[in-house]
Amino acid sequence: MDKIIITEYDHAIFKYTNEDSNLVKELNDYIDENIDEVYDFFELKNRNNKAIIEIFPTKEEIDIAVSKAKEVDASSIPNWLIGFSCSDKIYFLSLRDYKSTPYKDKTDLLEYKKTILHEYIHYIVGLYLLENKCSYPIRALNEGIAQYLSHQRDKNIITLKHDLSEVLEGNTAYSEWYLITKYIIDNYSKEYFLELLRNRNEAIDFINNNFDNIKDMKQVKR
Ligand SMILES: [Zn+2]
Repeated sequence: MDKIIITEYDHAIFKYTNEDSNLVKELNDYIDENIDEVYDFFELKNRNNKAIIEIFPTKEEIDIAVSKAKEVDASSIPNWLIGFSCSDKIYFLSLRDYKSTPYKDKTDLLEYKKTILHEYIHYIVGLYLLENKCSYPIRALNEGIAQYLSHQRDKNIITLKHDLSEVLEGNTAYSEWYLITKYIIDNYSKEYFLELLRNRNEAIDFINNNFDNIKDMKQVKR
């Protein structure tokens, strides 16, 4: 069993093994460089929070940990999952076992680093909801804002393939969730997005009433 190293930085406490030492520094730098934009968006006063980020050496190990946290069978964890966020904990797959995921042929370090920022944004959403004493938002907006602020979709062509019920209740409508988020921020305001994030039922009504318009939207560069 490899020895677990714990290192505390400004925004995170990393747990990892020696082989991932350089990777952890790089991931931490990436979070440091991009965190202000996220904190500015949510206008959080306290910026001294630290997520606990655990780096898993293998896809098999992260699947087991995620399945325990979600109380589901490990075989139900999707092959593309490399990160997971739950309250103040983030699980993340080491780049060393990226080969066990569908991303193996297009190993792009920037995309990989955007994914840890995506997971970190979920952590900050949790802090925002706590500060505003709100219950959990709809998945569409939580996943939408994580993609939007991590710039994962900035240059992508978005293909839409999920229907309204999948968008509201499913687990995979990431493209639609991103587009809904962008639609609200571009056509209304950041403030209105945050209002919908805080109010689950209002968000569901909004998506029900606007999904046809959103589907017509073309992806534009921000
Ligand atoms: Zn996510």
